[in-house]
Amino acid sequence: MEIKRKCISCGEIKLRDKLIKITKDCHSGNIVVQPDNKTFGRSAYLCYNQTCINTVIKKGVNKLLKANISREDLKGLLDGQFKS
Ligand SMILES: [Zn+2]
Repeated sequence: MEIKRKCISCGEIKLRDKLIKITKDCHSGNIVVQPDNKTFGRSAYLCYNQTCINTVIKKGVNKLLKANISREDLKGLLDGQFKS
């Protein structure tokens, strides 16, 4: 079965591999973008497009993931994720 997830920015439902995964590691509490299989925790998904990335950088993920990451750090993590 195809795994589909919803973008936290635009709300569109897409295939899991068409989205950027953002996970809050349940051990370290760190936010990880595109985590490996050993990272577990609360996750959110985001489209590979600049608009959705910018919206999430603006809104942040702290509330959503119960995390504590600055806008600058989040921007750093998401920079370079954009694919045209
Ligand atoms: Zn989106």
